[in-house]
Amino acid sequence: MATILETRNLTKSYNLEQENEFEALHGISFKAEAGEFICVMGPSGSGKTTFINNISTVDFPTKGQVLIDGINIRSMTSNELGRFRSQNLGFVFQEFNLLDTHTLYENIAMPLALARVKKSEIRPRVEAMARQMDIEGILRKYPRECSGGQRQRGAICRALIMNPKIIIADEPTGNLDRRNSNEFLALIDRLNRDKGVTIIMVTHDPLVASYSSRLVYIKDGVIEQTILRENMTQEQYFEKITELNASESRGYLE
Ligand code: ADP
Repeated sequence: MATILETRNLTKSYNLEQENEFEALHGISFKAEAGEFICVMGPSGSGKTTFINNISTVDFPTKGQVLIDGINIRSMTSNELGRFRSQNLGFVFQEFNLLDTHTLYENIAMPLALARVKKSEIRPRVEAMARQMDIEGILRKYPRECSGGQRQRGAICRALIMNPKIIIADEPTGNLDRRNSNEFLALIDRLNRDKGVTIIMVTHDPLVASYSSRLVYIKDGVIEQTILRENMTQEQYFEKITELNASESRGYLE
């Protein structure tokens, strides 16, 4: 398998050179192979979002490197990076991050418009994607007129419209009920299995994590543990993940 995303000694400090300087990530070295489905778990404040922001080029390391498809993201100009990001990465967040002033159609079409895709191509692509997600009938609606599940599906359409190689998600099911959460997972699973899309997803839900092929547990700014699913059934894997979270939580009581 080929490495699609790599961090080398990724260190991130906030409030650099100020009195309250704080190192949130302490030199994380991590590799994701193409086609993996990786879940990131860990206690609140352990550095998960910081890690995700750095691998998704939203933020940059204080020290160390992030390489995507072998390219050091710091070697690109901001224009190049913008193009690279839109062509390679799809983001899904808990808050959906749809623009309220735009319809679902406009939200989903936006990455295509920004990439200067021909207008005549945009409509069929948006409609085909919306059909897959079962929101074709509500494309004219504004996000506030949609249910949480519909908004999340809209956000997923927008994340996938450029056919990214990697999907990065931060608590994507955090605002969904179990039914919508299961639908989301089934979709992610299908993209991963059928299309080989690499998934890196933060979650606090062991059931969500049990769909992954590898679990990375971050604690106090380092990768403290990794569990590979390998030949485990989903149930066995789920048990292991639950055990890990429980023993870590117990640690806080001691
Ligand atoms: P998690 O996602 O695991 O809850 P975060 O990555 O959000 O953790 O935060 C890790 C640590 O970095 C926390 O102690 C948090 O307070 C701190 N932190 C996060 N963002 C900032 C920021 N912009 N400025 C200062 N400290 C921050």
